[in-house]
Amino acid sequence: MTTTSSPMPYYASHIARQERAIDMEIPDSGIDARHCVRMVEDYHLLDFSERLNTSSYVNVVFEPEEERVAMMGLKVNLADQTVYPESFRMHNDTLNMIAKLWHCPVPDDFDSYGCYAGAGTVGSTEACLLAGLALKFRWRKWYAKKKGMAEHEVRGVYPNLVISTMFQAAWEKLFKYMDIEPRFIAPSYKTFTLDPNKIGDHIDDQTIGVVCIMGNHYGGQYDPVWAMSQKLDEINKAKGLEVGIHVDAASGGFIAPFQEGLPPWDFRLPNVLSISASGHKFGNSCCGTGWVVWRQRKGLSENVAINVSYLGGSADSYTLNFSRPAQGIYVQFYKLLRLGKEGYAEQVRNQMSVATFLREGLKSIKVDGKSIFTILDAVGMSEQKLCLPVVTAMINPDLGLPFDDIDLQHIIAQGCEVGIAH
Ligand SMILES: *Cc1c(COP(=O)(O)O)cnc(C)c1O
Repeated sequence: MTTTSSPMPYYASHIARQERAIDMEIPDSGIDARHCVRMVEDYHLLDFSERLNTSSYVNVVFEPEEERVAMMGLKVNLADQTVYPESFRMHNDTLNMIAKLWHCPVPDDFDSYGCYAGAGTVGSTEACLLAGLALKFRWRKWYAKKKGMAEHEVRGVYPNLVISTMFQAAWEKLFKYMDIEPRFIAPSYKTFTLDPNKIGDHIDDQTIGVVCIMGNHYGGQYDPVWAMSQKLDEINKAKGLEVGIHVDAASGGFIAPFQEGLPPWDFRLPNVLSISASGHKFGNSCCGTGWVVWRQRKGLSENVAINVSYLGGSADSYTLNFSRPAQGIYVQFYKLLRLGKEGYAEQVRNQMSVATFLREGLKSIKVDGKSIFTILDAVGMSEQKLCLPVVTAMINPDLGLPFDDIDLQHIIAQGCEVGIAH
């Protein structure tokens, strides 16, 4: 059957007459475009409204110009640097702005690549996997030399990575896929952050690095990278090691640079070897955007990168995948220009004040004169007083209330449904 230019309205059409519109099989013949859109819309409608989704972890607010930019990027295959050199230049320009934001020193080979060592990725997960791999290869080279081992011998050694139990699930992928042993450190419930005095026992000559989380996804607390870096100096000296830090700044990468009063947490610390962040979280790009930046390219080119030469220049591909659309890069570039540092700083201030409003509101809800909620985030309880713009609280267990946080979540979700209806 051929499609007509003016199909019957959806509910009068043969598609709506079938028992199930989708029969687990590609339809034999095509369906009118308007009906296809209608069917997609029906699926979409039954999801939460993205604007009311409190846990999507990605930016969902776009200006019309931004959507236009995203549509442009959708048609570009970022992997093909020969066909789309200008899009890749936009990737590099964006990467450079982010590396500078994190105070990365200019690498020696900047001019031959036109950019810092790093890559736009599909979210922080890919960025963390790449950073973890780079740490592993760096360590392998060091370990083989130290032990006088051959390449195939050192490949049989199981390396480890030190990280707090507040890690995000992305790191589980690294441990499972890349054969790396996690060395977990459980933080105190009073800080939810790594204690520098606890890392020493976990580090040995098979340690590829220490991960510091700049804003964990539970309470938004920052691991004290500054204190960890100092501690590592002592440990490395005492044990004859060269262990460095990866900063997982998935959420904090675009928050911490705009908060005043925070000690250095980025490339200003010499032990920080790499930093990753999600462009689609507080970076304000669209879903599927992440960034990883390395202090230097040395050691990466031969291990992580696949070198592609084109148009007389050399280009490194660091990502785990090749073909993918460029819209994350396009929107990130747009957003950095659109907001500027001032815009990001203003936005962080607004978000922090919304968090304060909610925190104070939660604190004021009482039964029998006692607060129902105990505040757990850094602003609420630590000396640091700085964290992501989030509010974390638990229901005071002493009150013996007949509901828990999951009940509360269901009630809030119902509120969201009512929000849709109205
Ligand atoms: C969100 C998050 C990740 C994973 O990020 P994606 O962008 O979803 O891949 C990794 N680490 C931390 C700390 C996170 O908050």
